[in-house]
Amino acid sequence: MISHTHRTGRSGWLRAGVLGANDGVLSVSSLLLGVAAAHMGGNVIGVTGIAGLVAGALSMGAGEYVSVSSQADTERADLDLERHALQHDFDAERAELREIYVRRGLDPNLATEVAHQLMQHDALGAHARDEIGITDALSARPLQAATTSAISFVVGGIVPLLAALLAPAPFVIPAIAGVALIVLAGLGAAAARAGGASIVRGAARVLVWGALTMALTGAVGELFGMSR
Ligand SMILES: [Zn+2]
Repeated sequence: MISHTHRTGRSGWLRAGVLGANDGVLSVSSLLLGVAAAHMGGNVIGVTGIAGLVAGALSMGAGEYVSVSSQADTERADLDLERHALQHDFDAERAELREIYVRRGLDPNLATEVAHQLMQHDALGAHARDEIGITDALSARPLQAATTSAISFVVGGIVPLLAALLAPAPFVIPAIAGVALIVLAGLGAAAARAGGASIVRGAARVLVWGALTMALTGAVGELFGMSR
């Protein structure tokens, strides 16, 4: 037997993790570049970075919690509907399941037998999986997604913040931009690899958008600095 690993099961927290880290790097480094380009002092840069990190992590976590919770609500409502249908029209539900298996290519007699046995074993589980498409691996976990997002935002955002705090004053801007681009490329490549896609294209895509975002916020900061 050829052994192979599927990626679907880890897609939920992976997506939240990569998005969170990506957001952390990009929004904190852009914020810092804007402030540094406006020629604000070291203290202001540090305070701005920490405030951006905390605010970003909390809003990312809250946003993820709300969006995944509404997905969980939808799943729960669908399962309640299914439970009700199973209690009040078991035969029709069995026929419905049989139709699903016939459409998937099973011989009608075999489909009848499979539907019968699965309904005996775990009727709600069979309908959740084969009719609605809810499986354990993909079911919504709001708290897990929110925690993953908030932590990964901090992990991503702390890198440019440390660069800003540790770099000598004349090198603050190149230090922030440099480490941010390296981390973004790494995240893009990791996400592409985890998803089985091209690493080079994954890294390039994130790099282009990252560089563009940082350049624009830096320019805004520069404009603001000139007008002071
Ligand atoms: Zn059903």
